[in-house]
Amino acid sequence: MTNKGKGCYYRRFSGFGFLTMSAFVIDAFEYARHKERREGDTLVADLSRLSAETADRSGALHWVLAGGADQLGHPQLTLTVSGSTKIMCQRCLTSFAFDIDSESVLVLAKDEESADAIDALLDNDEIDVIVGTKTLNIVELVEDEALLALPLSPKHPVCPDQSALEGLKSAKKESPFAMLKNLKQQ
Ligand SMILES: [Zn+2]
Repeated sequence: MTNKGKGCYYRRFSGFGFLTMSAFVIDAFEYARHKERREGDTLVADLSRLSAETADRSGALHWVLAGGADQLGHPQLTLTVSGSTKIMCQRCLTSFAFDIDSESVLVLAKDEESADAIDALLDNDEIDVIVGTKTLNIVELVEDEALLALPLSPKHPVCPDQSALEGLKSAKKESPFAMLKNLKQQ
């Protein structure tokens, strides 16, 4: 087995000693086999890699992780992540709200060799094949999903600028003389 990783999806944990177990660490294969489903909310501020990429540490993510199998019987996890973050516009350098609404299908493989084989078999860019572990951290998975959902070069669709303010100022006001004239005619 090699240590060569395949993106951030290959997670490896030390088999030595006791891991600090939390409610967010799962046996990925058992989770898929039992078709388990969990959901939760995680603050952006609690995700150090994500909050480093955002304009401030505000916002929260709602996630749902569902276990199951694909049509060929491969164990898989379906992860949806939604929420709002603030990111910096690279054009005008002000922050703006960016909604994350992402869903991924992650097929589980026992090791890197079978991950490559399944990947070739499925031949589907929409599906990620990951090496599953008995100590998969859901929160790390959620953070990866959110990071992948962020735009590489964030920009406002339309940057707020002076022309918006000018538009407000030039709104027509009726002159007091015209109003007086209207009163006299009644
Ligand atoms: Zn902008």
